Amino acid sequence: MQVGGSGVLKRLGKSSILVTDIANQFWCERQMEFNYLYGKKYTKFMERGKQMHEALQDEVYVPLTIEPVTYEDLMYKIAYENYRSLLSLKDKGICRELRIYGSINGYKLSGQIDEMKIVEGKAKVIERKTTDANRKLTEVYSRPHLVQVKLYRKMLGDIKAKRYTHENFTKIYGLTKNGLSDVFKRELQAMGVRDELINPYSISEKMFNEIYALPELSDRVEVVYVDRFSGKQISSTEIEYNENEIMDSVAYAMKFWNGERESAPVVEAENWKCRFCKFFGNECKAWWTGK
Ligand code: SF4
Repeated sequence: MQVGGSGVLKRLGKSSILVTDIANQFWCERQMEFNYLYGKKYTKFMERGKQMHEALQDEVYVPLTIEPVTYEDLMYKIAYENYRSLLSLKDKGICRELRIYGSINGYKLSGQIDEMKIVEGKAKVIERKTTDANRKLTEVYSRPHLVQVKLYRKMLGDIKAKRYTHENFTKIYGLTKNGLSDVFKRELQAMGVRDELINPYSISEKMFNEIYALPELSDRVEVVYVDRFSGKQISSTEIEYNENEIMDSVAYAMKFWNGERESAPVVEAENWKCRFCKFFGNECKAWWTGK
């Protein structure tokens, strides 16, 4: 029997869907599911990728270093950093590590856009992936990355067109003008943040206003591949954004989250992926022949 709707989220110990969950469904959906069920190993490659992202973010602005105590502190921190990031897009034509929120079939959806750039007057979404310099960048390899970048573009478009608004966001995440811890408030005051902005509702309103006011979104999206060791760009794939196309991918992905079908293992032509999967022959026997 399949578990329906929010039952799938509950079974996986989640309260919302991440953009990377949907992207990973286009590598191996079963692996995405098993990562939640049986634990994700924090590999040294992931750590390296994270460090690189942090270094890139620091090039553009300095993140808020105050430690959040309450949930509202944390949401404040995210909204504040996003707001600063969006200001940097306006001033310098580039921003990095932008958290993005949205909704899909009634589920909470969130993600983190690696980079946005103003190109020919339009705001373009760019995803950066660390990889090995000698890896072949095939269609199969790039597929999840393209789904990811297209979904970010879709979420930005939804906010800009006010299909997903600040009101939706504050309601869904329960943000009001209260809830900041005293220590967090004091630190913000010490930083010179104006009193009327020292609450999660108002700072997130600032962040949404910046997204509403973005220049037109570019219909080109890009995935940049960066060598994991040197940090140098290896190549990039740029495609035309097409909303129907991403909505088809999302509709397929949502069938899993709605409990309409079980997670799909990779297809036979792609079962070479299993050799690199920690669940192969253990939790997953989809393509295991016992040897
Ligand atoms: S073993 Fe293969 S089919 Fe199973 S989860 Fe891993 S990649 Fe997917």
